[in-house]
Amino acid sequence: MLHKIGLEEHYAIPETLEGAMVYFRDYVGQTDMRTTRMLDLLDLRLQEMDAHGMDLMILSLNSPAIQEIYEVSKAVEVSKIANDRLADAIAQKQNRFRGFAAIPLQDPDEAIKEMHRAVDELGFVGVFVNGYSQIGDADTYKYLDDPMYLGFWAEVEKMDIPFYMHPREPMPCNDGQTDGHYWLKGAPWTFGVETATHTLRLMCSGLFDKHPKLKMILGHLGEGLPFLIWRCAHWLQKRSRGMPAKKSMEDYLNENVWVTTSGQFHTPPLLCTILQMGADRILFSTDYPFEDVGEASAWFDTCPISEGDRYKIGRQNAIDLFRLSV
Ligand code: ZN
Repeated sequence: MLHKIGLEEHYAIPETLEGAMVYFRDYVGQTDMRTTRMLDLLDLRLQEMDAHGMDLMILSLNSPAIQEIYEVSKAVEVSKIANDRLADAIAQKQNRFRGFAAIPLQDPDEAIKEMHRAVDELGFVGVFVNGYSQIGDADTYKYLDDPMYLGFWAEVEKMDIPFYMHPREPMPCNDGQTDGHYWLKGAPWTFGVETATHTLRLMCSGLFDKHPKLKMILGHLGEGLPFLIWRCAHWLQKRSRGMPAKKSMEDYLNENVWVTTSGQFHTPPLLCTILQMGADRILFSTDYPFEDVGEASAWFDTCPISEGDRYKIGRQNAIDLFRLSV
């Protein structure tokens, strides 16, 4: 399919690259190629896009980046540097790239300020967050259902911009279940479980009752939630045990969440997601440069769905959700 739009497409700046190096080292013999692609904002990725029918990428910083910078003033500073550098790159190729804002959630007031600057002044189309944030020291962390974020969520709803919840590793203190099984860390397993759990925390907290217009995006076909949500909702309905949320988990998934195909180039989970959420809430993405645009496109361009759904998922849903002028 030509003219595809992708929205989980990463870049790094030297100040944030180190946190992602653990993933690059896993690519035997390809470390230099991956880091080069990560730091290159325009040229190498344009070649990939042109070769595989992608018109536009909405770019986001790598993981965990800002969320692991526990020194608050440094998190604020690096967010600004990253957003400015991305804005400069986008200005050179306006018709091929847009941006997600990186925000320092270590300080919700500063996060709101930077979110406004990035959207109102730099023209970014949403915010992108790598899960929980470490704050003050390496061992202190907050998930986004913490009451300190209520003002932040009210502002996101008021600004009417999508927020993308991207994976990061669980805190070591929460990751005992993979002890001795290093290979399960990151993309194979722990990214998805961590991010799905964080999303359920937000749903259960009543966040989407307080702010019903919030638009949340999850990668990797919803981190398993489209497949698992019925059982979760079923049991929370039978036994809510003081949970604040007023509606069913399934309602929040179907009303407040959109998902992308990043790193999930497989038809059975796509069909499950279409059946659970509808083709209007699914958007094409690759997860570049951790995944190949060619592999993502070879699957998506030929997978057995209707051409109408392919066009929506590959392009139109992104135009509608981000109100893109393309
Ligand atoms: Zn990603």
